[in-house]
Amino acid sequence: MIIDIHTHTPQFKEAVPASALVMNDRWRPDRAVAATFSWGDYLAAQVPAQKSVVFGVAWNPGQMTDNLSGQGAGDTSWYTGNVNDATATFVRAHPDRLIGFMSVHPYDATCLEEIERCRVDLGLRGIKLGANYQNFDPLESRALAIYEQAQKHGLPILFHQGTSPVRNAPIRLAHPLLMDEIAMRYPDLKIVMAHLGHPWQAESCVVIRKHPNVYADISGTFYRPFSFWEQMVKAAEWNVLDKVLFGTDYPITTVAETLDHLRRVNEIVEGTKLPRVPAEAIEAIIQRDSLALLGLG
Ligand SMILES: [Zn+2]
Repeated sequence: MIIDIHTHTPQFKEAVPASALVMNDRWRPDRAVAATFSWGDYLAAQVPAQKSVVFGVAWNPGQMTDNLSGQGAGDTSWYTGNVNDATATFVRAHPDRLIGFMSVHPYDATCLEEIERCRVDLGLRGIKLGANYQNFDPLESRALAIYEQAQKHGLPILFHQGTSPVRNAPIRLAHPLLMDEIAMRYPDLKIVMAHLGHPWQAESCVVIRKHPNVYADISGTFYRPFSFWEQMVKAAEWNVLDKVLFGTDYPITTVAETLDHLRRVNEIVEGTKLPRVPAEAIEAIIQRDSLALLGLG
């Protein structure tokens, strides 16, 4: 079974109207990405994954809207819903294929209540945080309160890690070594470090090696082919390929193209003596039961 651990909630239930279609050409070097997408777009792009974890990002305190504005998506005034409600509605319509995560902002006065509402009323099973996008210090007390509650209730947290092209998102807040600090304080908290911490993949490898409950996903990394090969070789050398989870970061990539690039990861070193990523390790990542590892089986 293929499980996609990292996807984003569609903004539109029906087809995206032409007037609302926003293309972003900064996310990937090889092609533009539709930053606005529908339930139908999402579900088609997720084939052949059988299960996908889906979430939005609560960009601002007191405003749960995943407004995408910081990602250069242009005028987003058409999208004003609570992102957790949007995620839950989508998941309820496709419970066989989707597992919903919530997003909260630590500066929101009702943050802990929102976690409980999402967990109990909406049935969301984990948390997505992006401290750089949300502009909070991952080690400050209000953030720690989130981890405490997540650990207590078995809610895994998927953190955006590493860089992003969003101009007002401080990169230092998404450095992988911060995850080491969090994991030492909350050893039972399940953590997923997104994008293998790009471009700090070695730092991510040593963090996931150290902490039994910390994993990393490979979402949104294949389109830098040399870095992609290098990160997989590093993960092999640090002996952490078993902590690496399959993910796409849809809409940034689709399941089919991520599978294709994973299986061709060694092509870039053909004709050289450089190390290869073992094919069986690649297939193990593709077939990994990430939900069971995160306590969501
Ligand atoms: Zn993402």
